[in-house]
Amino acid sequence: MQSRNHSWQKSYGIAVLASSLALLLSLLILPLLKNITFSIFFAAVVVSSWYGTRGSALLATFLCSLAIAYFFLQPTYSLTVFTLDGFIRLGLFVIVSVLSNELNAAWRRTELKLRESETRHRQMAQAVQNYANELEQRVAHRTGALVEANKELETFAYSVSHDLRAPLRSMQGLAQALQEDYSDRLDSNGQYYIQRIVASAERMDGLIQDLLEYSRLSRVEIKLRLLNLTEIVTEAINQVEVELRSQQAQVNVEQPLPEVTGNWTILIQVLVNLLSNAIKFVPVNRQPQIRIWAEIVGDGGIKRWGDGGDKEENTSSSSSSPIRLWVEDNGIGIAPEHQQRIFKVFERLHDQQTYSGSGIGLAIVRKGVERMGGQVGVESIVGQGSRFWIELQKLPMET
Ligand code: ADP
Repeated sequence: MQSRNHSWQKSYGIAVLASSLALLLSLLILPLLKNITFSIFFAAVVVSSWYGTRGSALLATFLCSLAIAYFFLQPTYSLTVFTLDGFIRLGLFVIVSVLSNELNAAWRRTELKLRESETRHRQMAQAVQNYANELEQRVAHRTGALVEANKELETFAYSVSHDLRAPLRSMQGLAQALQEDYSDRLDSNGQYYIQRIVASAERMDGLIQDLLEYSRLSRVEIKLRLLNLTEIVTEAINQVEVELRSQQAQVNVEQPLPEVTGNWTILIQVLVNLLSNAIKFVPVNRQPQIRIWAEIVGDGGIKRWGDGGDKEENTSSSSSSPIRLWVEDNGIGIAPEHQQRIFKVFERLHDQQTYSGSGIGLAIVRKGVERMGGQVGVESIVGQGSRFWIELQKLPMET
């Protein structure tokens, strides 16, 4: 309340002071410069309006009008104005002063609104920033919890699979002992049942081993280094030699193959899985034909490795570009709606009688490639064949 009184006194004080100064100045310089008298009073009004309030500017207008009428218009030393010229001049002074005062008030209102909206904007930006920070914290917290839960789940899956193998082995051993020692006392039905038990136990053992392999891939610490793809592909082909021969499959490796950053064992495991599938998922009576080649994924799209000549492939941009290795077959193909889900654990599109398998091979491919910092994919036409690709960095990724 006191400060309000204080500012009230200050702004009206300014009006009185400015008007008095204007009068003094005008009286002093009147004999010299007659024409600027009104301008001096107008300046007093503007000063009162600028440093005071709307009221103080009106007070200054009123006081200056009185001074003008009294000292500078005919008849002098009287508040009455008789001449038309004097009346017009005084009227113009009042109108211009009031207008300038209103203009100043409007300017101040706009400025105030601008300042208010700036403050609101700053508050909103702060609120958004706070919200973003909070969200980031929550995401980090949840991601941490998720990673922890995932680890626990993997450990659980690993120990369950591991523990399941002991009773399974004893079941297998007992069923085999029954088969070997008591087969002469069993009729054909009994022998058939034992064969089924042994076969099922073997299949279960295979599934558990694959599951263990998959969860091992998620758990182990892997070391990456620059690998020669020609050596890797050759080793993988050697490992599927028996299957290749039994299906009379042909493999065509299109050289040259570049170097990539990866893990020797995992990359071979990935290729063995892709090659086994390429040999397996082929219609009966069709000779499996497999083609392997590499491409460089650059800014200008995908380009066949070897097409650009050695010079271009050694430039710094191409040496940091990912490499795509393709494995193409002439097999049964995969319908578009299944092309994503086959990379998940236990996803199979066929029964055991048609094509045997555990449904973990491609999950291992994806997990292995992801652990090497890459990605996988497939393009396929049903009845014509599939092309699986894995994409790896040529140089180690910066961490
Ligand atoms: P598995 O080979 O043990 O069945 P995978 O995880 O390797 O398991 O493959 C999952 C499924 O994806 C396969 O059951 C098959 O239906 C399909 N698939 C994989 N590779 C091919 C391929 N080269 N051609 C056609 N289908 C394929």
